Amino acid sequence: MNRKRRKRSHLSGTAVIALIVFAAASFILQAQDRAASSGEDKPPVETAAAVKSNPLLAGKTIVLDAGHGGEDAGSIGQKGTFEKEVTLDTVHHIRDELKERTGADVVLTRQEDEFVPLEQRAAMAGENNADLFISIHYDAFESKDVAGMTTYYYHNSDLTLAEVMHDALLGGVDVKDRGVKEGNYQVLRENVKPALLLELGYISNKAEEERMNSEAFQTAVSHAIVNGIIDYLS
Ligand SMILES: [Zn+2]
Repeated sequence: MNRKRRKRSHLSGTAVIALIVFAAASFILQAQDRAASSGEDKPPVETAAAVKSNPLLAGKTIVLDAGHGGEDAGSIGQKGTFEKEVTLDTVHHIRDELKERTGADVVLTRQEDEFVPLEQRAAMAGENNADLFISIHYDAFESKDVAGMTTYYYHNSDLTLAEVMHDALLGGVDVKDRGVKEGNYQVLRENVKPALLLELGYISNKAEEERMNSEAFQTAVSHAIVNGIIDYLS
């Protein structure tokens, strides 16, 4: 009897100590939370460390193709915008956000204002065993009031990918919907990996030309494309 009682009081003593330790620990944690949330420079929810420990697309490879380049300027806007320059700007925005948010490996078909043949661009998806190839373009038409975005695919197996990406684009950018279409483009036709060609606006339309040169548009459209990539690959 006596021994049993001593054992019980010893146990309850341990329980009390455990409770005190628990209370102290939660007090310290709460204090740390308060300190963190009161700070002006509180880091965003997705810190670099968080992405590193839980990368959405780790091990995935995405090839980004900035349309045109070098001697091939692409379309030229009424205010003098060169398609080859805007496509490279967009690709750089997508690359930066992809790396930051997803941890994916990104390959660019061209790094700067240089001419790269179409067959070489298409081949890069296979050579890098890419999970996705996305070619970026801006459209042009004789009639200056035509505007909007079009998502092109070639192989039937890429139709779902095209629909996922097009939904992400329309969800992220206020734009006229020109739909998902089959497009007989060499970078799609010769591609052995899932591939899309995105026409992200009309350089021949004054309002869209102006908009595509703004940081706000480039950030928004790149964000939407990264959302589409994540939706499709994860
Ligand atoms: Zn183009």
